[in-house]
Amino acid sequence: MIEIENFLLLPPVTFIKSLKEKNIKKFFFVYDDEKQKLIASHQFLQPIADYFTTDSKDFMKHEGWFCKIYDDFDMLMGAFVHRTNRGQAAGGVRYWSYDTIEDYFRDGLRLATGMTLKNALAGLWWGGGKGVVAHNPRFDKNDIQIRTMIYQEYGSFMSSLNGCYVTAEDVGTSVEDMARIFSKTRFTTCIPPEYGGSGNPSVPTARGVICGMEAALEFLKIGTLQNKTVAVQGLGHVGEPLIEFLLEKGVKRVIGTDINPRHIENVKKKFSGKNFDCRLVVKNDLSIFSEECDIFSPNATGAILNDTTIPMLKAKIICGAANNQLEDTQRDGKMLFEKEINYVPDFLTNRMGIVTCANEQYGYVKNDPLIELHFSKDWEYSIYNRTTQVLNEANKSKKPTSEIALKIADKLSEENHPIFGQRGKEIIKSLVENKWHSK
Ligand code: NAD
Repeated sequence: MIEIENFLLLPPVTFIKSLKEKNIKKFFFVYDDEKQKLIASHQFLQPIADYFTTDSKDFMKHEGWFCKIYDDFDMLMGAFVHRTNRGQAAGGVRYWSYDTIEDYFRDGLRLATGMTLKNALAGLWWGGGKGVVAHNPRFDKNDIQIRTMIYQEYGSFMSSLNGCYVTAEDVGTSVEDMARIFSKTRFTTCIPPEYGGSGNPSVPTARGVICGMEAALEFLKIGTLQNKTVAVQGLGHVGEPLIEFLLEKGVKRVIGTDINPRHIENVKKKFSGKNFDCRLVVKNDLSIFSEECDIFSPNATGAILNDTTIPMLKAKIICGAANNQLEDTQRDGKMLFEKEINYVPDFLTNRMGIVTCANEQYGYVKNDPLIELHFSKDWEYSIYNRTTQVLNEANKSKKPTSEIALKIADKLSEENHPIFGQRGKEIIKSLVENKWHSK
């Protein structure tokens, strides 16, 4: 019997070693609705299943998660499926370093739930899931040959899962990696345009952020973006086109920061002579939070809104693309609400990444009406209308926007796809019955 707390503190490579000693190469945890508990593929791992069954922080009755050890590099590959009422689970695969196996599991669970909410709120007929590959620090993550092997292996892993999860690009992965996955499976999106994929979604993502900002300004009845001041943290793939859109909309001033000198140089050159100032900062610099501005737009990393930064904010609106902006959803959502700052939840505004790639198999139309709907004011699920709905309901019920958006998304995520509702669950059931873990 394993001592669960200590076992979960193992770094992924040590965890892998102990599994190999037991001859375990593949394993899963699936939720049994009748028994109301997680069931592990191996008795040896059941204490982990029991531990997460009673966890109320990250385990949200996920339909299941599957892992495989990639022997050649001692790497753990995972596919986390949260809820598939609206269709098979869709979400990107993250390639990341984890200190402990618990961090790895929790990240997969949290990210998969986030995709359920994002997809449902966007009106996509997809469920929520996420892939996670735990980097082994012994290997160079930039080595093209190694990457090719890792992602081809991940593709085979996807194929073995029969489509309960369909992957995409995420932090640490690229469209080239998706092409490598695609060479071994049909269950991926975000492949390069020359293979029929949708390409880089950053420009539509920035456009989506603009829709969120416009809805919040209108909600506050303070006009349009014209003559407003916007502070932008992060001037990368999303930040750069965002500045362009803001300048087109006639803002008074955009202030930007980035930690990468190359990105600063690039935007300085591109927007020279425009109403744009930017500066290079160090990673922990917090000066952007206290800028005098109407809107603060986080487009760098997550967990940047917390009990240190929220009291510094002068903006009345927060709207940006960065994932998981609240360090602590409840505490920080409440703090923003009490400070009367209108927070547009990230999973509402930054949907265009998954929106542009999720339906790749249905082909493309110029100025695609199915994509344009998300930027319109005529569709209930559009970014503008959902933002307005969330801000109105939060105002009426005196609750944080983060809480309201979660509630709406959760309800939508329980609607069944008219044909493929709970398909992922069926696939998982069949994988379990066919002893996926022992093949
Ligand atoms: P990116 O890596 O191209 O850009 C992020 C930028 O933030 C980089 O230039 C980086 O140097 C900078 N940065 C990092 N830490 C910083 C700090 N402390 N202060 C200032 N700048 C800092 O990433 P991206 O594609 O532009 O995405 C931005 C965010 O939006 C990420 O959180 C991403 O997960 C999220 N997101 C992106 C998309 C998309 O379509 N690209 C879709 C959904 C969500």
